[in-house]
Amino acid sequence: MTVAATSCLPEARPILRERGQREVFCGLTGIVWLHRKMQDAFFLVVGSRTCAHLIQSAAGVMIFAEPRFGTAILTDRDLAGLADANDELDRVCATLLERRPDIKTLFLVGSCPSEVIKLDLAKAAERLSGRFLPQVRVLSYSGSGIETTFTQGEDNALRAMVETCPRDDARQLLVVGCVADVVEDQFRRLFDQLGIGPVNFLPARRAAELPFVGNGTRVLMAQPFNGETGRALTARGARLLSAPYPLGVEGTTAWLSAAAREWGVPQSTFEQVTRAGRERATAALRPHRRQLAGQRLFLMPDSQLEIPIARFLHRELDMQLVEVGTPYLDRQMVDAELGLLPEGVLVSEGQDVERQLDRVRQERPDLTVCGLGLANPLEAEGLSTKWSIELVFTPIQGYEQAADLAGLFARPLERKARLAV
Ligand code: SF4
Repeated sequence: MTVAATSCLPEARPILRERGQREVFCGLTGIVWLHRKMQDAFFLVVGSRTCAHLIQSAAGVMIFAEPRFGTAILTDRDLAGLADANDELDRVCATLLERRPDIKTLFLVGSCPSEVIKLDLAKAAERLSGRFLPQVRVLSYSGSGIETTFTQGEDNALRAMVETCPRDDARQLLVVGCVADVVEDQFRRLFDQLGIGPVNFLPARRAAELPFVGNGTRVLMAQPFNGETGRALTARGARLLSAPYPLGVEGTTAWLSAAAREWGVPQSTFEQVTRAGRERATAALRPHRRQLAGQRLFLMPDSQLEIPIARFLHRELDMQLVEVGTPYLDRQMVDAELGLLPEGVLVSEGQDVERQLDRVRQERPDLTVCGLGLANPLEAEGLSTKWSIELVFTPIQGYEQAADLAGLFARPLERKARLAV
């Protein structure tokens, strides 16, 4: 069944809402970037061979001596209810933790098959935590394609962690969303120079660095897809700071400035601390702007990064927006971004993939940002594409990464131009 409707936000921006066939990865994909960040965590997918293939191929070559994710494959006997999947799971986890004393957090990650047979992973995690704490905390979340698009896996994992964060009402800035270590280090330096602190990150690199949460916690979201985590933090007394995301010069400045305002940092100090980064990034963006200005961009709904990316590409690189699609429009998460989009641009929420592809074919944009599954067919029709998954695999936040982010969109156009010569 397909439903398409157009409605208006309070500021009268029309939103096209579509509910039909969608073309996105499932939430298991998040394991690929989460396991790189959380160096003493292990992600055990409780799923099928398809799930194992998905994360193995999404992760590419395994570069670790000891892997930090794996799949407990549900067999026909488990699926038919002939074997006690809980006993099997306990046995697999015990063997894994015995062999790998470096693991401090074990995530049991639900999949479509584990949900279909109603395997209660929350209960299993509780049971196993009781057995393995204090050495190992066992948590669970769903990465199932029935419930999640690909970035929602991170949101579910972080929300599960929020419940275990110790309570403390002391003042702190909590940056929420998985960012590359290099980005975290740059932000830490800037916050330090601004006199903002203590600063903690969720997720942290190690289980021992799990942040506290309480009434003094001020949250800056680094990724727009962690809405449920934001709500869980708010429920524990934290307050979200409304800001655009730290993409590009404008986004990074506004994001840092939200924290600076909260900490009462004088404007002159803010200007002085951020000046070098702003100037470097502005200069580094110049060649990309020459290439991208005037190019027409279509963003299909996939990563939930589409709205901030569209804002950056339009306002700092002069790209023209044809349509900005997002899988979900979470007002709490994108309010500060929506007002920065140009008037009249079509924002769509959800997907009816055939209808949307018709719009792409009709508009023939210069560049379409989409999931892997749609990129090849569109390329075959002569349309340039950019895989949205690269936006979560690549460090893109902050001043120093602004030009790399622009480069992701400039490269397919460059390639096309070279082929056309
Ligand atoms: S969780 Fe579901 S959608 Fe994802 S790989 Fe496994 S079976 Fe496929």
